[in-house]
Formats: sequence, C-alpha cells, structure tokens
Amino acid sequence: MPLIKKRLENVNIQIQQAMQHHHRTAGSVKLLAVSKTRTSDEIQQALSAGQRCFGESYIQEALTKIAELQGLGIEWHFIGRIQGNKTRSIAENFDWVHSIDNSKQLRRLNDQRPVDLPPLNICLQVKIDNEESKAGFAPIEVEAIVGDMANYPRLALQGFMTLPAPAEELNAQRQPFRALRLLRDQLATPEKPLKTLSMGMSDDLEAAIAEGTTIVRIGTAIFGPRNYPT
Ligand SMILES: *Cc1c(COP(=O)(O)O)cnc(C)c1O
Repeated sequence: MPLIKKRLENVNIQIQQAMQHHHRTAGSVKLLAVSKTRTSDEIQQALSAGQRCFGESYIQEALTKIAELQGLGIEWHFIGRIQGNKTRSIAENFDWVHSIDNSKQLRRLNDQRPVDLPPLNICLQVKIDNEESKAGFAPIEVEAIVGDMANYPRLALQGFMTLPAPAEELNAQRQPFRALRLLRDQLATPEKPLKTLSMGMSDDLEAAIAEGTTIVRIGTAIFGPRNYPT
C-alpha cells in the first residue's frame, strides 16, 4: 500500500480510538490534512485514499496547488499567518480560514469575498495561553469580536482555533484545549453555537479529542517529516 494511504489510515484509526476512549460522538471530529510544503501529487495520493479537506499556510504555494487540483472536490482551509495584502487571494480561493487574528482581516475578507461564493467559513485564532510572541486574539478580546460579527455578512463565524505551546504530557496538553472549549461554551448561544474548535496536531491529537476538538490539523503524521521548518 502507498505510504501516504497507509499513514492516513493509521491517523484515522488513531482518531477513532481516541474518540471512543473519550466518549466522543461518531462523526464529530473532522480530519484536516495539512499539506503545506507538499506537492500536488502528494495531495492527490491522500485524496484518492479518501481525504477531502486540506490545510495550507503559505498563500503563494497554495494558489498553485489549488489551480492544479481544480474540480476534484477538495475543501481548502487557510491556516497560516494572514498578510494584509494577501486577504483577497484567501477570500477568492478558500472555503475556510482558521487563523484570523485581527479585525482588519475580518473587514477585508468580508469586503473581498466574491458574491458568487457562499460566505467564507472562519475561526478566530485565540492566544489561549497568552503567549505574547504568538498570533491570535487575547481571550478577553474575543467576546467583543463575536458580538461584532453582524457587520460581516460575507463571513460565517464557526468557532475558534488555537495553537498552544508544545507540551509533553497528556494532562499538560489538555489544559489550553480545555480553556478554549470553556471560552466557547461561555460565548455560544442557540443562534450562534460556535460549534467548531480547531485544535490538535500530530503530537497532541488525543488531548484535543479529549477536550472536544471538532477539527484536528494533521500534517507530519500523514505526509511524513517536512523538508523545511515552519
Ligand atoms: C503545520 C501546521 C499544522 C500541522 O502540524 P503537524 O505537526 O505537521 O501535524 C497544524 N496547524 C498549523 C496551524 C500548522 O501551521
């Protein structure tokens, strides 16, 4: 069996096992295959093994692959740093954006989302462990942004994303994920359920599943080690 197909199967088994162990409802966790730095050919291998959602971090390489893989039914997610002059390409080419970290990006993506496409699905990135060096809204800023979303009719706020500092132990890994879930629970309403929690990568997948993630973002465990660091 081809290596990517094999690894993808293993990741799906790992997700299923963690879901059973932590009493998660079947179908409540979606796998996003993080394909930054990978070729269109590698993406196609994952696609033919049944994977439909792919995450990219660098706009230029993403646009090349999106063009090459047009018409194959891929759902594209942008998960990288958003530079001011790149919002238009994101608004025009992606189905989801996980990494919104300031209100200027909200305004621009809203204005630039083409009218013939459905509203852009978004997550607010939250700096849940309050590390100054990292991107994301501070937890105390999030309520006001959620309250402002009526100003952005071309955006569909689905929930939150976080990228906590790496930790070794399961319990340590669970803490920031739990904090994000609790923040979401505080802000969710029947009209705005904020169902999506985008949290968990190759090394902290189980912790994220234990704490209620709905999208895990996995690169290395599917495609192998990356050739250049991110
Ligand atoms: C690269 C990246 C991932 C995937 O990381 P792996 O360790 O390869 O699974 C997930 N989320 C974000 C935001 C990333 O940039």
